[in-house]
Amino acid sequence: MRISIKLKFSLFLAVLLILAVSVLSYFVLQGVARNQQLQAEDYLDQHVKTVNLRVKQTYYTGARLKPQAFMQQRGRSLAVELAGFTGLEVTLYDAVGQIVGSSVQGETDPAGQDVSGALAYALQNKIAYQNAADDKLLYLAPVQGPEKQMGVVQLQYSLKSAQSFQQTLQNLFLTTGAAVLVLSFIVGYLYFNRAAAAIGRLKKAAESIRRAEYISAPPVKRKDELGELAEGIYFMSREIESSIAAKDEEQRKLQLAVTKLQALEQQQKQYIGNISHEFKTPLTSIKAYVDLLNMYDDDPKLLFDAKLNIAKETERLYEMVEKVLQLTALEKYDFESQAELLEVAEGLEDICGRMNGKAERYGLTITLDAEPAHIWIDKESFMHIFINLLDNAIKYNVPQGSVHLHSEVRDQRVWITIKDSGIGIPPEARDKIFEPFFTVNRDRSRASGGTGLGLSLVRNLVEKQNGTITLLETEGEGTAFELSFPRVS
Ligand code: ADP
Repeated sequence: MRISIKLKFSLFLAVLLILAVSVLSYFVLQGVARNQQLQAEDYLDQHVKTVNLRVKQTYYTGARLKPQAFMQQRGRSLAVELAGFTGLEVTLYDAVGQIVGSSVQGETDPAGQDVSGALAYALQNKIAYQNAADDKLLYLAPVQGPEKQMGVVQLQYSLKSAQSFQQTLQNLFLTTGAAVLVLSFIVGYLYFNRAAAAIGRLKKAAESIRRAEYISAPPVKRKDELGELAEGIYFMSREIESSIAAKDEEQRKLQLAVTKLQALEQQQKQYIGNISHEFKTPLTSIKAYVDLLNMYDDDPKLLFDAKLNIAKETERLYEMVEKVLQLTALEKYDFESQAELLEVAEGLEDICGRMNGKAERYGLTITLDAEPAHIWIDKESFMHIFINLLDNAIKYNVPQGSVHLHSEVRDQRVWITIKDSGIGIPPEARDKIFEPFFTVNRDRSRASGGTGLGLSLVRNLVEKQNGTITLLETEGEGTAFELSFPRVS
């Protein structure tokens, strides 16, 4: 059977108190009894002295008799007289233990009890006492004669009042004990009820922490050890919660890093796969022409085609190698950037001038409206970025199309847009446009000498120059890129 802690404590307190009351009452009752006995002895001793005084007085003032004869003659009247003096029943014995007088009726056995033992003792000049019926004490003391003991006086002392006092006291202790027992149990129960409730709350808090449900405040507010324990549990809960949260956060970061690494590894694999594939295509074409030339080296048409195609594929290969090397250098090594102050409008004008020839060959027009502003940039990179973008805007344009460049200063940055009237980029390809080797239409891209590396290189270069590049929404009308660089005031 499971006994609750509050019941145990209450019972313990009650038992403790009742034990204390019992021990206290035992010693008090013992003390009272001893005190009463001493008082009675003192009282009786005083009376014995009175008796002896009176007996002596009577003996010396009366006719000179022998002590034995005196006791025989005057014993009866003396006993009655002494009873009057003392207020006690008095019996006198002579030196041989014979009753010579008594204030009690029926002289042969005045106390209604055999006192021979006590009498024999008292006759040896000693004090003796003996309990008698009706709660009486018989006090026997020697009566001194002129030379030696001439008899014994027996005083009857009632113990009733002393005993009733003791009984009252005992009853008082009993009722007090019972009241203390009940009261202490109730008070203890009520007090421990509070303590037990606090312990219960502490237990609940510990259980909820075990279930990883952390507490937001101390479960108990008290100014004692239980309160301190509650504070301790609350502190522990907070510590566990924060360390678990930190661990979770670390795990999340680790997981993120692992995912990133996996994606990078995947990207790298794809990149290498793409490079191999892209390199193989022109090499296969060159090898095929070389094989044909070995077989038919006197065919002038073949010779012409071979020259043309080998030159084209070699050019493509060269361009690809160059871009791959540039990309690798950008990613792997610290890019040697020689930044200098550049006037954007002038820079763009210079590039447009260089690209005008190609644009005209395609029947296109390039227009520029640029706001004068300065940026801090590596000139070589600036050239690469805009030549690549303009090259794309020309390659993927339509006959009689146009390319427009615009620049303006906004929010301490120089914003440059390059918009063409070309075929545009389909929505599904928008996200992948900056990935290396990505082409919307492989054949068309190849036909125009594209490698799928241009935009990837552009983005890398832009970011290295603290710039941004985004593909703008054009709603199916050509393509527009927006770039921005920090402006130098
Ligand atoms: P590429 O050498 O093939 O031109 P890029 O990385 O420069 O490679 O461009 C990737 C792809 O994005 C191109 O193959 C092309 O399909 C598309 N693209 C780039 N610029 C434009 C543009 N101005 N208009 C339409 N499509 C474009």
